[in-house]
Amino acid sequence: MTDLIRAEGLTKTYGSKTVLDRVDLRVPAGSIVGFVGANGAGKTTTIRALLGLMPLDAGRVVLFGEPFDISADAATCQRIKGRIGAVLDTCPFVPDLSVKTVGSLMKAAYPTWRADLFEEHLRRFELDPRKKIKEFSRGMGMKLQLACALAHEPDVLLLDEATAGLDPLARDEVLDILRAFVSDENHAVLLSSHITTDLEKIADVIVGIDQGRIVFSLEKDVITDEMGIARCRSAELENLVSSGLYDQNSLRVLRRPYGIDVLVPDRFTLARRFPEIPCDKATIEDYLQFVLTGEQA
Ligand code: ATP
Repeated sequence: MTDLIRAEGLTKTYGSKTVLDRVDLRVPAGSIVGFVGANGAGKTTTIRALLGLMPLDAGRVVLFGEPFDISADAATCQRIKGRIGAVLDTCPFVPDLSVKTVGSLMKAAYPTWRADLFEEHLRRFELDPRKKIKEFSRGMGMKLQLACALAHEPDVLLLDEATAGLDPLARDEVLDILRAFVSDENHAVLLSSHITTDLEKIADVIVGIDQGRIVFSLEKDVITDEMGIARCRSAELENLVSSGLYDQNSLRVLRRPYGIDVLVPDRFTLARRFPEIPCDKATIEDYLQFVLTGEQA
């Protein structure tokens, strides 16, 4: 699959702090990539780097096969940015503007702007065109950004916490829109989110970042269909480790007050070999927690 977006070795330092450390990331055509990590892990900085919004210390961004950075000329910027719809974690529009005025400004900025699509999304999201941005809740601001991102018919959506602040019905509506968007195999989405249940519903690949470093990149189904959390007592953990069923380095454990949780790569194998050990399906949140705070068995 062609990568519509690629980050190669992105490195960014603020003062003495390295906030991006050789970040590699791919967003292939036809896919939704979920981007997860704790607060301050580097998700927003990565997305801003992909959009060419800041200078990098090292590495490069390749958008639609073409290297792109903050020094790109106006024509390149317009051509490439025209193919990207972005939702940033903070609403970028001037608070005193009305929704209608935002639409007019977007029309001037994007030759491919479709006023009919914008109006359709405003209706879908129940946003009043006469309202001013400052009257909007965070969720309404997110919906407006999404309506703008979609209305210039991009090939890629870069979404930073786009479902944060939305009520569950609105979140499901946005997920439906994203599914429809990638049903065109020339489209792709990168979506950062703390709401990992949203990613469980729509993402193909999950990429985790911690302290500016990519710590995993896995197909979502590998996490949610194959992995398991075995609820062990000490003796069961010892049996599991000594059985040789798994390479010891592949088992991560979290010690809880009530026992030991063990992340296993294949819950079906565990169930066959150790039917007495209860084992739940892993979630993206479980996996992230084990990677970030688990120990080796
Ligand atoms: P969250 O989930 O809280 O939104 P995040 O994963 O998006 O977090 P970033 O916003 O990318 O994290 O921040 C990564 C790190 O970079 C943080 O430690 C943050 O303090 C730092 N950082 C970001 N922008 C700047 C800046 N302009 N100057 C200094 N430090 C910055």
